[in-house]
Amino acid sequence: MADFQVIRTNDMPTCPQCGQAAALTARLPLGDGIDMLLCLQCDTGNTPAGRLVAILGLPEGERPMDLFGDFIVDWLHAGAAAHGWRQIPNQSSGS
Ligand SMILES: [Zn+2]
Repeated sequence: MADFQVIRTNDMPTCPQCGQAAALTARLPLGDGIDMLLCLQCDTGNTPAGRLVAILGLPEGERPMDLFGDFIVDWLHAGAAAHGWRQIPNQSSGS
């Protein structure tokens, strides 16, 4: 399992773009730490974040939890890549 934290509480930070409470936040232990925020409003489309949002939009019982885990990892990879990191710690490349 990768060394990262995904945090979901009742007191989520707000999205800097739309001001809504974030759906998920994560902190990657890379460099000084990379804070990521998933917004149901802004993170849409065919991106790792958008696919995660699509799953979160489903009723709780209908979410494909196996995919959810994969999408979380994809999302974290995208966040790491956006900061110039090729992979997140303890996560082998490929699948
Ligand atoms: Zn937003």
